[in-house]
Amino acid sequence: MQNLKKLNFKNINPELCNKCGTCVGICPVEALNTNNEEILFDNDKCISCSQCYNNCPGIEFNYPQMNKLVFGDNSIVNKKIGCYSSLYLVQSKQLGTRNGASSGGAITTILSKAFKKKLIDGAIVVSMSESKPWMCTATIVDNLSDINHAKGSKYTLISLNSILKKTRQFKKIAFVGLPCHIHGIRKLQKNKHKNVSNIKYILGLFCGFNVSNNATKFLIRKQGIKFKDILSIEYRGGKWPGGFLIKTKNPKISKTHFLPKYYYDIVDTMFVPKRCLICIDYMAEFSDISFGDIWLDELNREPWGTMIIRTERGKTLLELVKNSINLKQLPLEKLINSHEHNIKHKKIGAFMRMDEYNQKPIYGISPLKHTNAEGRRIKLESFIFKIATSKTFHMFAELIPLSIMGLAAKLRRKLLKKTI
Ligand SMILES: Cc1cc2nc3c(=O)[nH]c(=O)nc-3n(C[C@H](O)[C@H](O)[C@H](O)COP(=O)(O)OP(=O)(O)OC[C@H]3O[C@@H](n4cnc5c(N)ncnc54)[C@H](O)[C@@H]3O)c2cc1C
Ligand code: SF4
Ligand code: SF4
Ligand code: SF4
Repeated sequence: MQNLKKLNFKNINPELCNKCGTCVGICPVEALNTNNEEILFDNDKCISCSQCYNNCPGIEFNYPQMNKLVFGDNSIVNKKIGCYSSLYLVQSKQLGTRNGASSGGAITTILSKAFKKKLIDGAIVVSMSESKPWMCTATIVDNLSDINHAKGSKYTLISLNSILKKTRQFKKIAFVGLPCHIHGIRKLQKNKHKNVSNIKYILGLFCGFNVSNNATKFLIRKQGIKFKDILSIEYRGGKWPGGFLIKTKNPKISKTHFLPKYYYDIVDTMFVPKRCLICIDYMAEFSDISFGDIWLDELNREPWGTMIIRTERGKTLLELVKNSINLKQLPLEKLINSHEHNIKHKKIGAFMRMDEYNQKPIYGISPLKHTNAEGRRIKLESFIFKIATSKTFHMFAELIPLSIMGLAAKLRRKLLKKTI
């Protein structure tokens, strides 16, 4: 380990940065900033306090240590899904929330109820920008209308933890974020940082893949839509499971433009940030409650989601909303089967891909055991990522009609379902 005393942002290997924004949210002299695409460093302002380095979850997030911290000494860790106390299928009872959200609207329901019952006075969420509707913004919302407005997944990278600069005017905050954001929050809690002392509840989203904002811009450009004409974007718009829905304000062109969800398979492979390929947390293992999709035929394409209760605080929130949600017990095997591909991507594939990086993140755990055939399939997938993220492929992709790419994505999905 290097001498921690004089380290600063320049000592963080950019290959390990997941753009979580934690460093931006705690830098005491505003030497760091972000446009959600990169972390901007002002060397002249930096006082080399080492806070960014010491709290960076991209370099190190020690699973055994953090499991003890969050779940206690005697916690039992499931290697695929993390520590948990109960598993459910969940959906909001309120139709408006259920249909407008991503996977049943449980998160929005919990935040609303916690706010009404004064368990929280603010919630850290991600909303679409009003001035640039193809971009996201991190905000701390303090009213029901803004909580509701933030519903829905935004499939794009955001340096959410940069918002930690603004937490101190609140007393009790709920935090909603991706696994890497939560790693940042938990590390700060471990180090007793003042900017997270009022974060009381952590709600985590599963994260199989994420993409840079260039993915959104690509899907807009390929449909021939002008940015100035965009009124709104939803990543899970339309009927569940939803897709990429653009509403335009120009009366001369069609008002809604919809791409089914499988189109994300194209951009997931083309625009995945390098750091995401070595991320090992799929189910937001360090949250109080985790939320994700669920793909079960028996649900008849109704908007349901997965809910994993992990901590006592998670149980408190569950009690609070029991009358506002529909719940069904979810057997562990069903959960794992429904998410098998992404579990392998993170718990085996990420470790295999790390060998090609100059520096590996420190996680303190080993990959799941796998067969030779699984290893070969993961290598093939990793090769596809390499090709699809290359400049040459991107130039080629500009020339191919989007509909053809969509067809290829549909076929690939079928193929992968068979093989992985
Ligand atoms: C980038 C990304 C990748 C995901 N990958 C998977 C996956 O592989 N498998 C799976 O099962 N589920 C995945 N999910 C989770 C899933 O899409 C739903 O978000 C989740 O099931 C919660 O649904 P809900 O209806 O309860 O949430 P809602 O009630 O719709 O609320 C969603 C909440 O998520 C927050 N949010 C939205 N986008 C972001 C973002 N980019 N970063 C941080 N917070 C955000 C919003 O602030 C909002 O509070 C992913 C989500 C995201 C954002
Ligand atoms: S704290 Fe997050 S954004 Fe900052 S360098 Fe580390 S991984 Fe990157
Ligand atoms: S002042 Fe501290 S936190 Fe900010 S960039 Fe420099 S070392 Fe990092
Ligand atoms: S894959 Fe991992 S690093 Fe990338 S956005 Fe998701 S949680 Fe963060």
